[in-house]
Amino acid sequence: MEQKVKDLLMDQINKELYSAYLYLDMANYYIDLDLDGFGNWYTIQAQEERDHALLFMKYLQNNGVRVTLEAIDKPDKVFSTPLDPLTAAAEHERYVTSLIHNIYDAAYSVKDFRTMQFLDWFVKEQGEEEQNADSMVNKYKLFGEDPKSLYLLNQELAGRTYSAPSLSL
Ligand code: MG
Repeated sequence: MEQKVKDLLMDQINKELYSAYLYLDMANYYIDLDLDGFGNWYTIQAQEERDHALLFMKYLQNNGVRVTLEAIDKPDKVFSTPLDPLTAAAEHERYVTSLIHNIYDAAYSVKDFRTMQFLDWFVKEQGEEEQNADSMVNKYKLFGEDPKSLYLLNQELAGRTYSAPSLSL
């Protein structure tokens, strides 16, 4: 595997773990407000990000790369209203999409077809992540200011359950 592709894939492990940290921080914010459905949503989101990190790790391991782990940044976003984490999450997912596309670009430029195929799942996944994150923002804008509607939205989000990623390596 080309060094640049290897470095970017290794760094993505850290980025996915940071995403998990960020979503756990959001979960803690909501749980502190007794919006435990929102808390549940982001706790599960964090589990998904952990899974993403493990997929990048496994892919590198399968290609004979010795994986080394770096420190994970502290989540440092400040939330003033319950809408803030939702908009921050949508922004963050767009950033992650740009990272995945950047790795894809690097793999493409050295004809690393195996890595491109591995990344295809993540390209699709990021489309879904952006859609879900935007939907959360829109739902909150529609229903979040009305206490009864917020109560129901919180209940809906409490129903999210964890499922393992559809990609296995
Ligand atoms: Mg991810």
